Amino acid sequence: MTRAISLLGSTGSIGRQTLEVCEQLGVKVEALTAKSSVDLLEQQVRKFRPRLAVLQSLEAAAELKRRLADLPVRVAYGVEGMIEAAALPESDTVVTAVVGMAGLRPTLAAIDRGKRIALANKETLVCAGELVTAAARERGAEIVPVDSEHSAIFQCLQGCRDRGEVRRVILTCSGGPFFGLSREETAHKTRADALRHPNWTMGPKITVDCATLMNKGLEFMEAMHLFHMPPERVSVVIHRQSVVHSLVEYRDGAVLAQLGTPDMRLPIRYALTWPHRAESPAEPLDLLTCPPLTFCAPDLEAFPCLKMAMDCARTGGTAGAILNGANEAAVELFLGEQIAFGDIAPLVAEALDAISVKSNPALEDILEADRKAREIVYRRRNG
Ligand code: MG
Repeated sequence: MTRAISLLGSTGSIGRQTLEVCEQLGVKVEALTAKSSVDLLEQQVRKFRPRLAVLQSLEAAAELKRRLADLPVRVAYGVEGMIEAAALPESDTVVTAVVGMAGLRPTLAAIDRGKRIALANKETLVCAGELVTAAARERGAEIVPVDSEHSAIFQCLQGCRDRGEVRRVILTCSGGPFFGLSREETAHKTRADALRHPNWTMGPKITVDCATLMNKGLEFMEAMHLFHMPPERVSVVIHRQSVVHSLVEYRDGAVLAQLGTPDMRLPIRYALTWPHRAESPAEPLDLLTCPPLTFCAPDLEAFPCLKMAMDCARTGGTAGAILNGANEAAVELFLGEQIAFGDIAPLVAEALDAISVKSNPALEDILEADRKAREIVYRRRNG
């Protein structure tokens, strides 16, 4: 069980909920990092008293340092600061709750120190799954998923002694706010439409990914890497109620599922307490009042991002990094209202067409694929 954490991405949705869970569990917080929210990070530092606080820019860090002059906290900035937080000797677990590729190098630094990774940054595995899981194996670092679907699968795999007994893992997907609509009907959906998720309250990037179903595509790859499954042993099923968080089908036909209310604090708590479970103040699931549970197949024509991600999963190599880089850039443009919802998938497809995939990539190849993919998408903004 975790005693002390470094929390990367403390001011986002997962970060704030992680601090709530730490408070309940009595887990010490040794380092906090955020992108640019000086006000909230200052409040968090005053409350949790970490030894290190990190912001992305030098200017923001200087401002934070000025405000925290009365406390014995070191303030750092940039990727180097995040790496320092991840490698901090005082924390045994690193919660990676940053959004996007930015989490990769700090995650590798934490793995190098043999720490437990409570992984809430799926982009890391999508871009560099082989690299990250190989490093974790070599250093004996545990990767415990925080993503609700992967936490569910991880829970259903407890007690499984032979992965060969698993026929497939089944990821559930809420379908997002545009479930049931055709590609034409979603083409002109706005930022506000996309940010209206039916079941979960999350940050803007992942909420847009839920609307395109790219999130499920990224989770498809995340599942392959986390559970060492080839793509043909990962399935996706639409489940609108988000009560069944995912399932594992064993070779004798037994299907195990994890159910619960849609509350991210459950997978966060489990990632910190595993292999144990701790008391939670959250409302338990009431089977007698929860809505009927329904399941159906995803519409890959209406949601081409999911299809592209599944294809990239089969291709392997740098395909995931290209897909993810293009998607991060396209979602940023969509959130800035510079492109339409219907532009996201074609921009990702354009990047995948233009950049050749490299197999068995080194870290530099992955960073290069990511950079090229973003460049192609950003060109659209400028011209
Ligand atoms: Mg998820």
